[in-house]
Amino acid sequence: MASFPKGIRDLIAAFERLPGVGPKSATRLVFYLINTPRAYVKDLSDSLLKIKDEIKICNKCFSVSEQDICSICEDKRRDIGQICVVERAIDVMAIENMGGFKGVYHVLGGVVNPLEHIGPDDLKIDELVERVKSNLGNGKKNSLEIILATNPTMEGEATALYIKKKLEGLEVKISRIGSGLPMGADLEYADQATLSRAMDGRRDI
Ligand SMILES: [Zn+2]
Repeated sequence: MASFPKGIRDLIAAFERLPGVGPKSATRLVFYLINTPRAYVKDLSDSLLKIKDEIKICNKCFSVSEQDICSICEDKRRDIGQICVVERAIDVMAIENMGGFKGVYHVLGGVVNPLEHIGPDDLKIDELVERVKSNLGNGKKNSLEIILATNPTMEGEATALYIKKKLEGLEVKISRIGSGLPMGADLEYADQATLSRAMDGRRDI
């Protein structure tokens, strides 16, 4: 490895830091790029910089956006009476790809995880409570449903319960995505049919 040019070694090391990419895949990617036309590599590097320079966090739902408010929050056809609470923006993508959900989202930015020192204050939970309160102020009674779609992991369940407690006393229907997703599963990797079933099978908690 040491005999390879430094540029190659550096790029392999950089790819290896990506989730799910091991040394073998990293090496394969680098050699693929070496043999790829410059225009493609230029497009790739421009796209990489773009996600750092142009992608912001939506002020309302904390998902990814090109503007201060994301296109889902801006879309008047979406039902603001249904807020689907997810861990990460990638989960928004998974549910959007599933199709059929017409509500809006709230991205927590993770889950409560004492081992990793992530507490409720590190997540957008207070923001969710505020959002619910202001939605209730504008809407009709009992017209708001909060769908807790954190992953069915221990941390995801604990976070869902914590949020439920925080919303106690507010005139809001709270549901949890249902069966179909095995314990420990990750929304991100669920196939669309399973995710769809989990969404349809949500139950009040
Ligand atoms: Zn948004």
